[in-house]
Amino acid sequence: MIAEEPLLFEIGSEDKTAVDFPPQPDAKDCLGTCRKNTKIGLPGLSEPETMRHYTRLSQMNIFEDSAFYPLGSCTMKYNPRVNEKLAALPGFSEIHPFQPQNTVQGALEAIYTLSNLLTEITGMKAVSFSPAAGAHGELCGMMTIRAALTHKGNPKEVVLIPESAHGTNPATAAMCGYRIETIPVNNHGLVDIQALQKRLSEGEKNVAAFMLTNPNTCGLFERNIITIANMLHEAGAFFYMDGANFNAIMGLVKPADFGVDAMHINLHKTFSTPHGGGGPGAGPVVFNAELAPFRPLPWIEKDGDSYRLLETNEESMHSFGRMKAFNGQFSILIRALAYILSMGLPGLRQAAEDAVLNANYLRVKLQDILHLPFPGTCMHEVLFDDSSLTETGINTLDIAKSLIDKGDHPMTIYFPLIVHGAILIEPTETESKRVLDEFVAAIKDIVAKAKSENNQDLKQTPLKAFRKRLDETTAARQPILVHTDDL
Ligand SMILES: *Cc1c(COP(=O)(O)O)cnc(C)c1O
Repeated sequence: MIAEEPLLFEIGSEDKTAVDFPPQPDAKDCLGTCRKNTKIGLPGLSEPETMRHYTRLSQMNIFEDSAFYPLGSCTMKYNPRVNEKLAALPGFSEIHPFQPQNTVQGALEAIYTLSNLLTEITGMKAVSFSPAAGAHGELCGMMTIRAALTHKGNPKEVVLIPESAHGTNPATAAMCGYRIETIPVNNHGLVDIQALQKRLSEGEKNVAAFMLTNPNTCGLFERNIITIANMLHEAGAFFYMDGANFNAIMGLVKPADFGVDAMHINLHKTFSTPHGGGGPGAGPVVFNAELAPFRPLPWIEKDGDSYRLLETNEESMHSFGRMKAFNGQFSILIRALAYILSMGLPGLRQAAEDAVLNANYLRVKLQDILHLPFPGTCMHEVLFDDSSLTETGINTLDIAKSLIDKGDHPMTIYFPLIVHGAILIEPTETESKRVLDEFVAAIKDIVAKAKSENNQDLKQTPLKAFRKRLDETTAARQPILVHTDDL
């Protein structure tokens, strides 16, 4: 068992440093009155102290390299090491965004190649690489939609969002100045298209867009997606697809064929980058021809044999401006490029098929012991709930915490919100049958225990983790950011 780990601020001291620069007697002070004369309060540590601190913290976690990580909606797949190797090549990792463009032609070519691959895979016309994550991609897409509508003379007022949406969707639309209206989900877990049709045909035509995740957060494919797209276009509204769950369909269908106008792709999920705990990510957005002229700068263009960045609007460009410095999360783009090229299109298709197969394997193996709110084939993730355990007093949280003692990372819990006590399992394509069978055995064991006399032990889990049950609400509301011995 590892010992308690102090904070960096408790190990280091302000006047210590791991790096020694020789004094620079002739250096000119360019900062003038902007120079800060007081200490900035960051702890200094030696190199081994720093390394040990982070290694110890990592050992307190369950992580992708140590265990099965079926966190629904997050696509925690194995990320091939070759991606890391390629992203670390000096031509990619040791360049600076202020370098003249003629000295970084290879890097620009890499972005350009990735943009061609993403438009090919999605069937869309143009890409913006600015967004640093999925939610940022949504913001990019919705700002582009707003710019296009404003150009037509009316940005409109309302964005429609189904009840099953990821929480980032309404947040994004609200940040773009839209009022959110919710569209209900039917008892199959899919958008209620009668309700959508009714909303679109009534009142003024003030709907700017509909934001839909497909496959949705119940792990189900929205079968009426083409009807939905047609209904929106007839009403003069744009169709934004949240493509964070693209892992289920890549290489099998092109979102352009559904009538999607804009969609973000979570490169860190589908196209393989180690992620979690807030980063790193990249959420490029693909656009159709109508929206493409309004997307953010910079754009990348091929001019004969060379590549250049367009940083200001030129003819027929109506970009709304920049939303991030430089060219997005460059090293994540390289990882995605490495992943796509090493998989090839048939490889991507097989990854999606295997992701769906693995989720359905778990669905079939577990459907007799956990309740399936929406029976039938699922996509890359399977949604259960805890209603079959109500009488035992054991709930979704207890199952998740007990899984930690079995050595697995818990699945996503209490999301999507439309299912009470939701248990959302996304095994991904990179897990073998053996790993899935072990997970099934672990869940069966926990459920059997839940139904037994002495099930109260489950309320104490995890027993083997470094941190036991946390009061998560208080931890979030009143975080204690200093270390004390009695914690
Ligand atoms: C992960 C996810 C997002 C947000 O992506 P981030 O990169 O975490 O910002 C949005 N929508 C869905 C459906 C997701 O699964």
